[in-house]
Amino acid sequence: SRVVIRAERAPGEKRVAATPESVRKLRGSGLEVRVETGAGRHAGIPDASYLAAGADVEARSALTAGDVFVHVRPLSVEEVRALPGGVLTVGTADPFQHPDVVKASAVTGVTAFALDLLPRISRAQSMDVLSSQALIAGYRCALIAADAFERMFPMTMTAAGTLAPARVLVLGAGVAGLQAIATAKRLGGVVSAYDVRSSSAEEVRSVGGTFLTLDLESADAGGGYARELGEERSQRQRELLTPHVEAADIIITTAAVPGRAAPRLITSAMMTGMRAGSVVVDLAAESGGNVEASVPGERVPFAVDGGTVTVIGIRDVHSELAVDASKLLAMNVANFVAVLTVNGSIDPDFSDELVSGSCLTRGGAIVHPRLADLLA
Ligand code: NAD
Repeated sequence: SRVVIRAERAPGEKRVAATPESVRKLRGSGLEVRVETGAGRHAGIPDASYLAAGADVEARSALTAGDVFVHVRPLSVEEVRALPGGVLTVGTADPFQHPDVVKASAVTGVTAFALDLLPRISRAQSMDVLSSQALIAGYRCALIAADAFERMFPMTMTAAGTLAPARVLVLGAGVAGLQAIATAKRLGGVVSAYDVRSSSAEEVRSVGGTFLTLDLESADAGGGYARELGEERSQRQRELLTPHVEAADIIITTAAVPGRAAPRLITSAMMTGMRAGSVVVDLAAESGGNVEASVPGERVPFAVDGGTVTVIGIRDVHSELAVDASKLLAMNVANFVAVLTVNGSIDPDFSDELVSGSCLTRGGAIVHPRLADLLA
């Protein structure tokens, strides 16, 4: 069987889902590998390196049934319609945001796998694109915040006086949030963090943050995920967070609920009491926004007493660290493809929960239970 790695086409997308190392791993499973010309150019991987690792490199090649077509960004409806039936697609699908693509995959007879739906059991950790990419994003958010802040992070005592440390507040302490905490801490900030899952308190402490306990019931949905709060509890959460928001120099928000728009944690009203010069970075800007005032891909000055707070809406953050993001992503993909492979051939075992839990469409139908309502 053959695995075909596409060159990403979305403007600004620099990642690629294969590295020489992942090509070697795929070849080691007995698979042929084809990489589209120039696929790694923005991630520091020349075509020659793929060739040296045992891949073919070709301009957009014709696919045939049984090929595995690997993508980073979700495919478009047009791309799916152009695929021959019987192709398997593997990549991030974001199916709740792109239901039309899921429907097109079913109609085209494509077997589509969404790595972002893999059940988060321990066997899936090496394939977990959400974790690998969230780690990259969380780290980057802390650097973006530090860069926009016109003060130092560490407490600094000199003969000329003392500089106070930056007070950093991280909201949402999943994979991205924990990495933001660890990075802000390494920069010398005094970091506190909050998550609606009280089970994350231990993890926050382990990376050097102080966990904020609010007088609010934990909303743990199991498997590391949060439940969506009802409107009344969201309102209460915002009230309880307001004094912490006002006390922070830096806020980094990373809260998410699977399959839902990002929860609104900070309204503009809550920000009016912040100090001028503070910085807010919203990692969830593209998925609905944890921060009301954020705009994806933009730095918005928010007026407060005596100046502004800089509100940064994150967009395409992984491409700012395309080399490492690609490195992790490529191994996630190779590890997943290995699960689909038996004796050098792609032969998915649908009784394996990793396979059934990530499969969106198969045999002309939408088969994922969480997408059942799309069938209607
Ligand atoms: P995520 O991206 O879905 O959400 C980010 C964070 O936002 C979560 O911690 C969530 O609790 C939090 N959040 C949601 N609503 C909130 C609100 N209203 N206020 C404050 N915070 C809110 O989550 P994630 O980072 O992908 O994963 C979360 C956790 O899952 C991780 O910390 C990890 O412990 C666990 N996990 C386990 C595995 C595994 O066992 N294989 C793999 C990955 C992650």
